[in-house]
Amino acid sequence: MSQILDEMVEAAEQLESSGLVTGAGGNVSVRDGDLMWISPSGFSFGDAQPEHYPSVSIETGDIVKGAFRPSSEVLMHLYIYRVRPEVMAVVHTHPKMTIALTSAGHDLRPMFADYYVYLRANVPHIPYVTVTTEELARTVENQFRAPDCYGMILRNHGAITVGASVKEAFFRTAAIEEQAFIQWHALQVGNPTYLSDEECTRLDNLGSEEYRRQLLSLMKSPPSRAK
Ligand SMILES: [Zn+2]
Repeated sequence: MSQILDEMVEAAEQLESSGLVTGAGGNVSVRDGDLMWISPSGFSFGDAQPEHYPSVSIETGDIVKGAFRPSSEVLMHLYIYRVRPEVMAVVHTHPKMTIALTSAGHDLRPMFADYYVYLRANVPHIPYVTVTTEELARTVENQFRAPDCYGMILRNHGAITVGASVKEAFFRTAAIEEQAFIQWHALQVGNPTYLSDEECTRLDNLGSEEYRRQLLSLMKSPPSRAK
C-alpha cells in the first residue's frame, strides 16, 4: 500500500510541476484490488501526502480507509474502474493548452508519433457537462467502455487518461497537452499537417513503438524529480 501511495504522491507532484494542474484541480487514482486510492478533496497536488489519501470500495463507493474525503470527482474514477478491469490508474487534469484549443472547437489530431503511440485513434471529445455530477461520470464511463479508449477530452474542463500504471496514465496526459501545444502553434503560422491514417497504421505496426508501450506499462512511477 505504501508503495502505491508513494507513487501517487510522486505522480501528483510531477503533474503539478508540469503545469498540468493548478491548486486543488485534478485528481489521480490507483486500483488496489477491490479498492481504489484517490486524491483527497481540497488538497493541492503538491500538498497531499500519503496519509491524506483515502481508499474507496470500487463496488460500493464507500470510503474504506482514510480520514479525508475523496476528490469531488470520485465518481468518474469509480465508473472507469468498473467498466475497464485492466485499468490500474486514472489521471484527471485541467491542462491549459488542451482546454483552450478544444474549447475553441478544435479536436486534437495527431501531428507527431508520440501522441498517437500513447493515445491511439480513439480520443473522444465531449461537450461541457457540470463538474462533479453523476451526469458527467456517466458520460465519461460511456466513452471508456470502448477498450481502445485510453484518454478523452472534456471541453471547457480538461482531460482524463487511463493506464496500466500511474506512469502510463501520466505520460498519456502529458502527450495530450504536448499535442495541444504543437497544434495550437501550428495553427498560428499556417495549416497544420496531421499524420494520415496510413502513417498511424504504420506506427501500429512498428515493433519498437510496441516495445515502448510495454515498457511504460511495466514501469510503475514517473521519472524521479530532480532533488
Ligand atoms: Zn476536473
